[in-house]
Amino acid sequence: MFAANKSELFQKLPSTDELLRQPDMQALTERDGHSAVAESIRVVLARLRQEIAGGQIGDAQLDEKSLDLALGGLSAAVERQLRQSLSYSLLPLVNATGVILHTNLGRAPLAAAALDHVRATASAYSNLEFDLSTGERGKRDVHVDRLFQKLLTVDRVGDRVEAGLGPASAERSSAAISTIVVNNNAAAVLLALNSLAEGGEVIVSRGELVEIGGSFRIPDVMSKSNSTLREVGTTNRTRVADYERAINDRTRLLLRVHRSNFEITGFTEQPGLDELVALARGRDLPLMEDLGSGALFDLRSVGITGEPGVLDSLRAGVDIVTYSGDKLLGGPQAGLISGRADLVARMRSNSLFRALRVDKLTYSALEATLLAYVKRDHDAVPVLHMMRLSKDEIARRAEKIVSRVVSAQVKSSNLKLELLDGESVIGGGAAPSAVLPTRLIALTHADLSADELSARLRASTSPVIARVEEGRVLLDLRTVFPEQDTVLVEALNSVA
Ligand SMILES: *Cc1c(COP(=O)(O)O)cnc(C)c1O
Repeated sequence: MFAANKSELFQKLPSTDELLRQPDMQALTERDGHSAVAESIRVVLARLRQEIAGGQIGDAQLDEKSLDLALGGLSAAVERQLRQSLSYSLLPLVNATGVILHTNLGRAPLAAAALDHVRATASAYSNLEFDLSTGERGKRDVHVDRLFQKLLTVDRVGDRVEAGLGPASAERSSAAISTIVVNNNAAAVLLALNSLAEGGEVIVSRGELVEIGGSFRIPDVMSKSNSTLREVGTTNRTRVADYERAINDRTRLLLRVHRSNFEITGFTEQPGLDELVALARGRDLPLMEDLGSGALFDLRSVGITGEPGVLDSLRAGVDIVTYSGDKLLGGPQAGLISGRADLVARMRSNSLFRALRVDKLTYSALEATLLAYVKRDHDAVPVLHMMRLSKDEIARRAEKIVSRVVSAQVKSSNLKLELLDGESVIGGGAAPSAVLPTRLIALTHADLSADELSARLRASTSPVIARVEEGRVLLDLRTVFPEQDTVLVEALNSVA
């Protein structure tokens, strides 16, 4: 048999129109529309042409037979292509990494109440910027600012008074804390710096010139804000006197940046927040802290220390704090700026604020998340619930899952499962050393490397994302929703 030459093979390919007239394609057209089907046919035909040109079809012995085979499977190929092009690219998955705020996996999953509220307010018109009592135009911030006031001011006044501070400081602390919302914390820092320090200098410690994943670098944000960075101290040691010496007529702001994703240990020194507050007050300069994570919940209650909360900073006397909505707060992506009302007012009137503002979906999700805090219903916020899970609870679920995996019952099985102690990580730039004790399911496979095994889990119908360590695949149920346990078992059964 002679190999067909390429041009003959090309001629055997049907045209898009011919294919579209076939009954099975007409059925697809009726279901998914003409243009989507035609597009899928074009993609499949182009792929075939490429295979002919590249010699995968029609080469030497393979000749027309392989083309006939390909043509026979054309309808199925078009249908597959169509299904793929019309399905979602952004998908839910099972986060079995044990990293609670996983930046690549969408950070904080939202509370059920947040989703309900988004659905209710976004599927109809809403009073986003409408004052129902006057019938006039309102402000979109009011919906969440009232809740931040409850969460950030009430305690502050109480604590000050209880702490027996004099009337002056009690009065100062009772000054309302305002909060505004922008698109993310990077935007919050940009807006705050531009509003408070445009054309002037901002003093920062060299030890805090951080880069956070996704190319957020303080020096870059500062230059975009049109303020000048004045670095003081050294990477490992900065004293309050270093800040003091750097203050001049052009100084507009003292900035402290939380070291989110790294720690400096050993021979280090950093001024206490109280020293910086005293310096800022004495020189009549605002002090801003970029907290990054910004917990509204006392992490000490889950055994994590050294991660300052928003209230800790405001109580200590920081004038402005910036933090993310989708890190420890457990809400939607947002950047939050809380602090002295007069400074926040300057940010609100900056035209950048209009460019960085968030939409009704964010306000709805944030309002519902904050309400859970106001009601002290911390378990309603998924990331807080995950942090509060005990190792025992996780171990019980892990045992149950293992007992449901078929290969765990078969001694000769290729897939081996065992349980071991390990650590879950907060992630998302929170407390770099903060870990929580957990119980892990460790997987090994007789014929697959750990990387291959984890790739198989990723390829499951519901992708499962695991950690690979020391030649093992590790699954941490802390970040797996109990409703996902069954799909996890199915994925494990399918890789066995
Ligand atoms: C995460 C983080 C940011 C960036 O926040 P986004 O909400 O991702 O924009 C900035 N600063 C610090 C200290 C952070 O931890």
